[in-house]
Amino acid sequence: MKGVEIKKNLSKIVKCKILSDKYSRNFYSVDSSSYTIKPSAIVFPRNETEIIKIVKFASRHHISITPRGAGTGLVGGALGKGIIMDMSNLNKIKIQNNLVQVQCGVFKGNLDNILKKHHRFLGPNPSIGPYCTIGGMIATNASGRYSLKYGSMIDNLVQVRIVTSNGSVMTLPSDNSEIKKIVKIIPRDIAKKFPQVTKNSCGYRIDRVLSRKDTPKLIAGSEGTLGIIVSAKIKTHRIPKKIILVIISYKTILDAVRDASDLVKTDPASVELIDKHIAKHVNIRIPKKSGCLIFVEFHNDTDLEQIRKKSTGRILQIVTSHEKIKKLWNFRDAALGYSLHSISKNERMPTVIEDAVVPVKRLPMLMKLLDILISKYNLKIITYGHAGNGNLHIRPILRHKDNKIIKKIAQEFFIGVIGIGGSITGEHGDGLARTEFIKLQYDAQTYAIFKRIKKSFDPYNIFNPGKKISQNSTITKNLKI
Ligand SMILES: Cc1cc2nc3c(=O)[nH]c(=O)nc-3n(C[C@H](O)[C@H](O)[C@H](O)COP(=O)(O)OP(=O)(O)OC[C@H]3O[C@@H](n4cnc5c(N)ncnc54)[C@H](O)[C@@H]3O)c2cc1C
Repeated sequence: MKGVEIKKNLSKIVKCKILSDKYSRNFYSVDSSSYTIKPSAIVFPRNETEIIKIVKFASRHHISITPRGAGTGLVGGALGKGIIMDMSNLNKIKIQNNLVQVQCGVFKGNLDNILKKHHRFLGPNPSIGPYCTIGGMIATNASGRYSLKYGSMIDNLVQVRIVTSNGSVMTLPSDNSEIKKIVKIIPRDIAKKFPQVTKNSCGYRIDRVLSRKDTPKLIAGSEGTLGIIVSAKIKTHRIPKKIILVIISYKTILDAVRDASDLVKTDPASVELIDKHIAKHVNIRIPKKSGCLIFVEFHNDTDLEQIRKKSTGRILQIVTSHEKIKKLWNFRDAALGYSLHSISKNERMPTVIEDAVVPVKRLPMLMKLLDILISKYNLKIITYGHAGNGNLHIRPILRHKDNKIIKKIAQEFFIGVIGIGGSITGEHGDGLARTEFIKLQYDAQTYAIFKRIKKSFDPYNIFNPGKKISQNSTITKNLKI
C-alpha cells in the first residue's frame, strides 16, 4: 500500500499526525547509521490505544512497522520501508523510590533532569547523552560509560509494557501461556553458549531468561522486532556524593588495553579509552608521544594509590571538581564527532564493525586481530570506547567505496571476535549491519529459539522486518556512504 493510501485509511481510524509527503519520508529515511531506507508513511501515536489501532491495521494489511525513538541508533535499526512509528508523544514519567515508570518516547535528557531533583540517575548512559529515548535505549540494550558499575539496560529493566503484533498489550513479567512456553524452551544452561562478556546486544538475550520473572529481558536489545515498547519500569541509582576522574596517558593502545583488566579491579564506574585522533581535541596538556588516553572515574571514595600501582601509564590529571569532570567527559562523548574530523573528502567510515566486545583480559587479542586487518586491507583506524568492558568502537576508514571489501572486512573481523570469545555487538545492536552475522555468533539450536520467539511475538513479521531474524544480507545493501 502506498503512503498516501496508508494515510487515508489510517486517518479514518486514529486522529494522530500521519505524514506521507516527500520531505517527511526523506527525513525519516536516515538515522545516525550509514544506511538509508525511505518509508511509506510516518505515524505519531499519542497513546497506547492509537498504537493498538495502528498495529491492528498494519497486521491486517501486512504493512511493516518500525518503531523510532530519536534516530540516534548506529546500525539502521530505526529504518524501514513501511510505516515508521515515531514514539515522541509518549512522554510521561513517574518517579517511584528507586524505580522510574517511564514511557518509551521520553528523551533521556528529560528523565535525567527530573531524576536529578530526586538525587538519582539512570545507570546506562550512552555518549549521545540526552538525545536518545528510553524506548530506543531498551530496544538496543544501550549501555555507555557507567555500565561497569551500573550495567546495561537489561540489568536495569524491571518491567516492560509492549503492544504485540495482534494488537494485544502485554506487561512482562507475565502469566501469559505463550510466555510460559517460551521460558520452557530455553535450556537452563543456555548461558554457556553465549559469550562471557559484560555487555551484549547480539540476538535475543535468552541467556538472561531463567524464569518468567526475567522475561522483560527478552525485550532488551530486541530492536523493535518483538513488539512496540509503550512504557517500562527501570531501576535508578543514587547520585554519588564524590566523583574522582583520573586521566592516564599511554604510549600505545596496546599498553592501555593491557592495563584495562587491572584497572577494572579498582572498582571504577568507568574505564574509557580515546586514541590519539580523538585525544588531540581534549583541552589538557598531553605528552607528545601519547598514543591514547584512558579516563577512569570513581564514584565515592577510592584508594588512588591502587591506581598508581595498577597503571603502567602516566597519570596526567586527578580531578574532583564535578564541573571540570563534566567538561572533560564532553571530549570523550564527542569521540564519534571528532573521528569525522579525521576523514578526508574521498574517505568513508561506514558503521559496521564499530561495537565488538571481548572479555577485557583479551583486549590485546582484539588489537592483534585489528593489526592483521589493518595490514591486509591497508586501513586507517580510529578507536575509542568502553575499554573497561572490553567494548571498543573501532572505525575503519576506507579510501574508496567497495562494498565487497566492507563485507569481507566485517566477516573476518566478526569471525575473529567470536573466536576470541566476544560478541559482535556490545551495545549498539545488530540492525542492518549485523543481523546476517547473528548465525555466526550463536549455534543452530540457539538461533532456532530466536526464530521461535520472533514467530511467537510477531507471527506475520510486521515488526521491523529484516532485523534480528532474516535470510538476507543487508550489511552493504542500503549504505548511503
Ligand atoms: C554520537 C553517538 C554516541 C553513542 N554512544 C552510545 C553509547 O555510548 N552507548 C550506547 O549504548 N549507544 C550509543 N549510541 C547509540 C544510540 O544512541 C543508542 O542506541 C540509543 O539507545 C538509541 O536510542 P534512540 O531513541 O535514538 O533509538 P532509535 O535510533 O530511534 O532506535 C533504535 C532501535 O530501537 C527501536 N525502538 C525505538 N523505540 C522503540 C519502541 N518504543 N519500541 C520498540 N522498539 C523501539 C528502533 O526500531 C530501533 O531498532 C550512540 C549514538 C551516537 C550517534
